[in-house]
This record gives sequence, C-alpha cells and structure tokens, in this order.
Amino acid sequence: MSDIVENLRRVRSSVPGGVELIAVSKFHPVPVLKEAYDAGQRLFGENRPQELHEKALQLPSDIRWHFIGHLQTNKIKLVLPYAFMVQSIDSEHLLRAVDEWGRSNSKKIRCLLELHLGAEETKHGFSEEEIRGILDHAADYGSIVFCGLMGMATNTPDEAVIRADFARISAFEVALQKEYTALTEFRELSIGMSQDYKIALEYGATMVRVGTAIFGPREY
Ligand SMILES: *Cc1c(COP(=O)(O)O)cnc(C)c1O
Repeated sequence: MSDIVENLRRVRSSVPGGVELIAVSKFHPVPVLKEAYDAGQRLFGENRPQELHEKALQLPSDIRWHFIGHLQTNKIKLVLPYAFMVQSIDSEHLLRAVDEWGRSNSKKIRCLLELHLGAEETKHGFSEEEIRGILDHAADYGSIVFCGLMGMATNTPDEAVIRADFARISAFEVALQKEYTALTEFRELSIGMSQDYKIALEYGATMVRVGTAIFGPREY
C-alpha cells in the first residue's frame, strides 16, 4: 500500500463518523490526488484559485472542492464554478463579490466565515463583532448559504494556547446558532489541521482540514 493510502486510512480512522475529513492537497500534483480519490477520498481542500481550477478540470466531477485560502475578488471566477464550499470568507468585500457572482450565475454558494484566531497578524479573518455584523444582515446576501465558521489556531507548540483558540471559536459557534436560528444551515465548525486536528475534535469540529499527515510535506 502506498504511503498516501496508508496515511489516509490512519487519519480517517482517527476521525469519528459525522466529522468530515478534508484532504488538503495544495501543492501536490494531480496523480497524488488521484491516488487519494481511488482510495475513496472525495473531499479536497485547495488554497490557490488557479490550482483548484486546473485540478478540478482534470479530476472526476464527484469531488467536493473546498476552497480554504485567501481569495481575491478578481479570482473568484476561477473558484466558484467548482467549489462545493468557500471556507475562507475573510472580508465583507469578498462576501459581497461572491454573492454577486452567485446572483449572476443563479448559484447558491456555501460559505464559512473565517474567525481570526491567535496573535499572528498575517492571518486573515473577522473579529466576533464583525461576524455578528454580517449575520445581522444575512438576508441581504441572497446567494450565500451561511454554513458556519472556519478558524486556524495559533501556530505554536503550546497546547494550552491551541485549546484556548478552539474553545473560543467553538463557544462562538454555539452562541451564533442560538442567536441566528433563521440560519438553518449554520452548523459547520472547520477547525484542526495535521498538528492539531485531534484536539479540534474535542471542541466540536465538524470538519478537519488535513494536508501533511496525508500527503507528506509540501514542496513550495
Ligand atoms: C494548508 C492548510 C491546511 C492543512 O495544513 P497541514 O498542516 O498540512 O495539515 C489546513 N487549513 C488551511 C487553511 C491551510 O491553508
């Protein structure tokens, strides 16, 4: 059995049923994804628009592509025809552009709002207050299906910090579900990567995004 198939089995067996495993395949070539596909994987995550576009054209159409990277509005037309979900909505400007694209193309776009966690200023995402501000006007975004939250914990070996990040986003998700009952699809919590997905499961992750633990290190 190849390393990838073995890794995939190991990771899958550590993720409970009901939690979706997104195989983050960014920077890996199409044959590598095909191997995971042939082993039964259908959910893939990509973070570069052009790369998602090219892979989607070459791989079977029953793959559900999750876009997980920073998205510039001039690139959305590469992503939205193929993406099952955009997990990384990180500005109102982007949200409006995605909504407009959805309207022009008669398509509903499933989206997660990215909560900025941790201290790193390089990270994208909203504050809690900004997310409430958007959800207060959710009805204005007729083509957007608000499906939940995405977050990346602080990049640190300190598990207490990671737990604090996950506790914060998890509590926020629960609070939003109580406050915005009209948003019936708002149920996903996408947290956890190779290093911390097992911790994320303890905090109610409904989706984990795992790259390195499946495909090995990326060559940038
Ligand atoms: C690359 C990436 C991942 C996967 O990271 P690994 O450490 O390789 O598992 C998860 N989420 C996002 C947003 C990413 O960009």
